[in-house]
Amino acid sequence: MLDYHLHLWPHHEHDTVLRVDQLAEYCAQAEAVGITEIALTEHLFRFRQADALLGGFWDDESVPPALAESMAEYWKFHATVDLDAYIACAQEAKEAGLPVVIGLEVDYYEGRMDEVAALLAGYPFDVLLGSVHWVGGWRFDDLDDPVSMAEWPARQVDRCWDAYTTALEELAASGACDVLAHPDLIKVAGFVPSAPAEWWDRIAEAAVSSGMAAELNSAGWRKPVGEQYPAVELLRSFVARGVPLTTASDAHHLDHVAYRADDMRALLASVGVELLQGYRARVPHRVAVAGLGGPAGGQDADAG
Ligand SMILES: [Zn+2]
Ligand SMILES: [Zn+2]
Repeated sequence: MLDYHLHLWPHHEHDTVLRVDQLAEYCAQAEAVGITEIALTEHLFRFRQADALLGGFWDDESVPPALAESMAEYWKFHATVDLDAYIACAQEAKEAGLPVVIGLEVDYYEGRMDEVAALLAGYPFDVLLGSVHWVGGWRFDDLDDPVSMAEWPARQVDRCWDAYTTALEELAASGACDVLAHPDLIKVAGFVPSAPAEWWDRIAEAAVSSGMAAELNSAGWRKPVGEQYPAVELLRSFVARGVPLTTASDAHHLDHVAYRADDMRALLASVGVELLQGYRARVPHRVAVAGLGGPAGGQDADAG
């Protein structure tokens, strides 16, 4: 079992400190429930390097002014950390023998994914998650932002799902990332079309055609929608079509690390999944749901 989606800081935290002992606490909590490896996957937009490259992407006349203003504030609040320091901290944890791989959660930036990939190519990432958290400058999943949440009742649910899925398809086609994070995140606030199969099919096809893995993510159980990502039907579709899976808590602090790992294990058993996909240097390997992690052929022998 893996926990391949972890953040170091809650969204409301502005002053952020990198500590190897925090990573050791994450590992201990994960190992206590049979998770053999964790991936650090902080949001790309937490880093000053992302601000330098992408800041102002919301300045587009198609983005309503209230949403553009909200995004500008959000971005300014978050983009404070040095990406090099983050990588150095994760490497220090690895060298100390902690079962950590280095990753990032990368948003979709329309027309900019080549630039994003070029930035990320300069770092020794093990795994990159690809996410869609906003469409057209609207942070549809920012439950704490009244401006963003006011949009939901004003929009047609089908159109929201369509715009989300189109962004996800483009993200997958860009080849910039390895794993589709929370594949049906658009349901987060509880707005789900009466017949979502059309979008589930497109999401599954995006994974298949890009070769990306998909994430089983327990954070949805903590949200208004009240179910894991992806929905069981979409999970079954991934499995039927041979899409590899990771497991993830999407924790933003220690309390949620390995969140509902046993429920994810039971769900995987119910759909017949015994193997997950782990990564080293963005190269995939298989990991048993119930068993030891590490690339096929045995445990890797990281220093320390
Ligand atoms: Zn996310
Ligand atoms: Zn996340």
